[in-house]
Amino acid sequence: MFTAKERLNQELLEKEQELQKVLTDLEEKPEFGLGTGSTGAFTWEMLLARREVLEQQIEEIKAALTRIDEGTYGRCVVCGAEIPPERLEIVPTATECAECARKEAAGVRVF
Ligand SMILES: [Zn+2]
Repeated sequence: MFTAKERLNQELLEKEQELQKVLTDLEEKPEFGLGTGSTGAFTWEMLLARREVLEQQIEEIKAALTRIDEGTYGRCVVCGAEIPPERLEIVPTATECAECARKEAAGVRVF
């Protein structure tokens, strides 16, 4: 049984390793971006997209770890309600309760 912090630290490590790999690929294979056929360009685009996703995920994980240290982890940043442990189990970096996340996804901001 891992604590949220251990889980997040582990995930952070994995994401950083993967990001490092993506960055290395981007660096070592610049021909991807030079239009050497559709496959090359496609792979390049994929790597750039992957880098963006990983960077965002890393930011989210770091933010979650900060919230753990501050003691605000597991609380909805919108309404202050406790985020159910089942939700954190699925989305350890969740900053909103399911209700607020749903409203935000629907484009309705609650203040
Ligand atoms: Zn909420």
